[in-house]
Amino acid sequence: MIPDWPAERWQMVEVQLRRRGIRDERVLAAMGEIPREEFVPLDLRVLAYRDEPVPIGFGQTISQPYMTALMAQELCLSGSEKVLEVGAGCGYAAAVMALLVARVVTVEIVPQLVTFARTNLARTGRDSNIEVVAGDGSWGHLSQAPYDGISVAAAAPDIPTALIEQLADHGRVVIPVGSLADQELRVLTKRGSSIESRVATTCRFVPLRGGEGWR
Ligand code: SAH
Repeated sequence: MIPDWPAERWQMVEVQLRRRGIRDERVLAAMGEIPREEFVPLDLRVLAYRDEPVPIGFGQTISQPYMTALMAQELCLSGSEKVLEVGAGCGYAAAVMALLVARVVTVEIVPQLVTFARTNLARTGRDSNIEVVAGDGSWGHLSQAPYDGISVAAAAPDIPTALIEQLADHGRVVIPVGSLADQELRVLTKRGSSIESRVATTCRFVPLRGGEGWR
């Protein structure tokens, strides 16, 4: 039997997101629009709307829906922004954010996932304002900086300095910071030469690779 994807998606938005405190109506609408099942490997599609991360190969995962929604909400996007994502994975979070902003640049370090993300975005017709860049995103992506928002989908022991440097004034970074087992999702806001930081929640992401590495 073919699952009723729109029904599963609606249920995800209402139960996993709205009921748990996601309030940004644009984020809720975007999550209700993007066909998440198209971003999950074929043999795992039945798991697409589960309340948990799902493997996408190469030891990586598509984030839990709530985490994707929370990160987008924390960036406070209004429509005109340019956003950098570090860690495209399957391209799902980029597709969601692309409905909320003018342009998304997403960097992915695993070559096969670069292809996976590009293929998924093209097949679902979501690639018009998204660029998937192959490389180590812990250095940001200087050629298109500054960014109004930066979303990091993998956890780092420290905040990579390049990301702060490539952030526009009043821009925000959402990033999981901590050890492999113990992380918090931080929201940083750039105000001139100072950075405001607060913790949105605890979390568990795959490690950010490359860059200056884990100490
Ligand atoms: N954005 C995805 C989540 C992907 S999981 C979603 O839509 O749910 C995190 C991704 O970050 C993985 O694909 C991993 O390969 C990638 N990654 C890890 N370190 C990276 C780095 N330094 N630069 C770019 N991508 C990185």
